[in-house]
Amino acid sequence: MQTAISKESIDSKNKSKENNSPADFKPATPSEINDTVSLADSAFQSYKDTSAEVRISFLKEVISELEKDKATIVNTAQAESHLTSTRLENEFNRTVNQITLFIAVLKEGSWLNASIDRKKDANQNIVVDIRKINVPLGPVVVFGASNFPLAFSVAGGDTVSALASGCPVIVKAHNGHPKTSKLVADAILRAVAKCHLPQGVFSIVYGQGSTVGTALVKHALVKAVGFTGSFSGGKALLDVANARKEPIPVYAEMGSLNPVLLLPAALNERGDTLANQFAGSITMGCGQFCTKPGVFFAIEGEGLDKFISGLRNALAKINAQPMLSDNIHKTFKTNIENKIQNKPVVDFYPSPAATDEQLMSSSIATVSAKKFMEHESLQDEFFGPFALIVKCKNEGELKSAISILGGQLTATLIGNESELNKYKNIIETLIGKAGRVLYEGVPTGVDVGYSMHHGGPFPSSSSALFTSVGADAIKRFVRPQCFQTWPESLLPAELQNKNHRNIVRRINGIHSTDSVIL
Ligand code: NAP
Repeated sequence: MQTAISKESIDSKNKSKENNSPADFKPATPSEINDTVSLADSAFQSYKDTSAEVRISFLKEVISELEKDKATIVNTAQAESHLTSTRLENEFNRTVNQITLFIAVLKEGSWLNASIDRKKDANQNIVVDIRKINVPLGPVVVFGASNFPLAFSVAGGDTVSALASGCPVIVKAHNGHPKTSKLVADAILRAVAKCHLPQGVFSIVYGQGSTVGTALVKHALVKAVGFTGSFSGGKALLDVANARKEPIPVYAEMGSLNPVLLLPAALNERGDTLANQFAGSITMGCGQFCTKPGVFFAIEGEGLDKFISGLRNALAKINAQPMLSDNIHKTFKTNIENKIQNKPVVDFYPSPAATDEQLMSSSIATVSAKKFMEHESLQDEFFGPFALIVKCKNEGELKSAISILGGQLTATLIGNESELNKYKNIIETLIGKAGRVLYEGVPTGVDVGYSMHHGGPFPSSSSALFTSVGADAIKRFVRPQCFQTWPESLLPAELQNKNHRNIVRRINGIHSTDSVIL
């Protein structure tokens, strides 16, 4: 458990080997878990009332502390995840960009949804004054994913959006990158100390998800959970939270198949080019992205054949890559063997590069729409460099095969403008499945901004209503608080008559930056 930064840690910019010894990552005991959550709860009592300016200074300090340790963080993440240094440099920059976005979100203020209604009640000759604003929920537990040791981990979007909202955060460190987690946690803890924020605004604990993680989610003082990871992990924590005496929201971003609909004219015209484009997307990061295109739907024909052979050729030229961990390597290999390779229902096309204990080469398989619909396990996420191509006999089969899909993070449409109208019905079915739909692109790569939505209907996310990426991620950790005829001096600053922060508020239904004139 780590809730405060030691002098030794503040002084040493470059961590010694001893500091990264396994002893640092001892699983938190039940009493340490209780202490950590209690400290977070007591920090909440003052942190929830900090001004936007205080939180902005804190987030700026987090960036500055992270930047100081950038090289060590990137090198450590590389050693723990086998991801390339270029990829991790980009991920570090993305992590900083996410924090910068929440600084802008705090300045802009619309996430507060501040609203003021003042009406004269003619019958009783009184003014009815009702005001509403979003307030933070309380301590939030965050679980990161192995494939983003920085951007979806200790200082990732879940942590930063919760801290921006006024909620203390307790991170359950991922066992795939404990050293990276500690370095990043140290940077955040230094920022907490420098900004004189209460201890417990941020803490990190180590241990297994199924024991330490579950105990955190069960703790009565925890008020929400941010999770990025597998369906099995997210669903297990959702069940724990729902079984509590006081159920709490679990915002779980889980796996996804990210279906791609390939329309016939586009395939006939551009099958080869599309194959090259998607080969890059399927194998990016060794296929270990939640947005990897995992399943393609198309009507049988020459165009589809061209696409399949183009994809096989393109994948054969891509070298085998290391997977994130031995465990992920093993799970992927076993899944492919059990659900694809040894099944007569599919045609499996391994690429020539052999797999060994560290490396994984890419592969595809084809299956008829009929078999795809009959075998539910083909709808599982294959977390690695693999994609399934579903061959449909006609439009009817295409629609049926897409209809049976569960909720997805993304869905992609590839088609010429001239054929879009003809397939409108099928396209609408596809849209209904996903949180983000793309036309003529690849789903890997998630922009961080105001309009991004990274989430989708279950099972891709536990709630289709919220996003884990972009400005709106902050809305997961707040609840509306309504004040009726409440004394001005006790109202939050953003609801007082004078518009102190010059934010946009809704006054009697109209968005405005005006102050309220009584
Ligand atoms: P994971 O195995 O589910 O681990 C994520 C976290 O959950 C870890 O801290 C893990 O603890 C904990 N956990 C796992 N099972 C648990 C359980 N039964 N009870 C309590 N806690 C549990 O996921 P991963 O392998 O790190 O990440 C890969 C997966 O994440 C893929 O499915 C990928 O698609 C998905 N992903 C989704 C997104 C998104 O935005 N939707 C982004 C990135 C990745 P331990 O440390 O003990 O394992």
